[in-house]
Amino acid sequence: MKYADLHAHTTESDGTYTPVQLVKEAIVRGLSAIAIVDHDSVGAIPEALKEAEETSCEVIPGIELTAQQDSQEVHILGYFLDYQQEALLDKLKLLQQNRVKRVYKIVENLKELGVGLNPQTVFDISGLGTVGRMHIARALVKDGWVDSTSEAFRKYIGDKSPAYVLGFCFSPAQAIKLIRNVGGVAVLAHPFILNSDELIAEFAHCGLQGLEVYYPEHSQSQVNFYLDLAKKLDLLVTGGSDFHGSAKPEIKLGAIKIPLELVEKLRQAKR
Ligand code: AMP
Ligand code: FE
Ligand code: FE
Ligand code: ZN
Repeated sequence: MKYADLHAHTTESDGTYTPVQLVKEAIVRGLSAIAIVDHDSVGAIPEALKEAEETSCEVIPGIELTAQQDSQEVHILGYFLDYQQEALLDKLKLLQQNRVKRVYKIVENLKELGVGLNPQTVFDISGLGTVGRMHIARALVKDGWVDSTSEAFRKYIGDKSPAYVLGFCFSPAQAIKLIRNVGGVAVLAHPFILNSDELIAEFAHCGLQGLEVYYPEHSQSQVNFYLDLAKKLDLLVTGGSDFHGSAKPEIKLGAIKIPLELVEKLRQAKR
């Protein structure tokens, strides 16, 4: 049987593998396809596509857009999108600039908690890619404020922690629309993070096409629940590991993999 992992990050956002390293790792792990879904960025895609040429592994162009609704982050995955369209790239630039501002706000909050982090430490870690909380977590480890990135999230920057800042530009409906406008298939990432499952039906009405049912943090009963919900709402089923390299060392590429036939259904949804 052939398998795909439809959720991987690179150094273009908060992963630690370069696009080329990620493709090599996918081949070593025997995956027939991987989707690169960096946060608010498509920067890794050209290099990864080139690396995957004439190999056993297909690279699926993708993205993970961060939206917000009802004071919570909602992550919308886009697959098979026309990643070179100006309409998309212009919007992504805005989202990326907004993320830089958000880092300064989170650093301000940390300061009030007695944690003196220099924003430049964060930007040195993120490099040219999209900056986010994972880079802040790594900066906190580097400067010795915490022992691990998971401690950084627990203590300071997790969704319910004291230095957290929301402040994203899009609603889920807008993110879904942006993905579909550039020919992508819109899928809700890791639905377990939502405060309410009722939102999923709402997103389906806004054009959502799929649900990331298979995910490392989903229990078997959650998988069953979301499979059932996907059926009811006529949504496609996807899955992936949310690979971040050494930023999330316990998750290996392909830790969650799905049969290639589910990828074919996604591909058909684009047509
Ligand atoms: P951001 O897009 O800046 O809000 O950061 C979201 C990213 O932070 C996610 O993609 C994960 O990589 C990471 N993250 C969020 N919450 C946690 C957590 N509790 N533990 C570890 N990583 C997390
Ligand atoms: Fe991430
Ligand atoms: Fe996510
Ligand atoms: Zn992700």
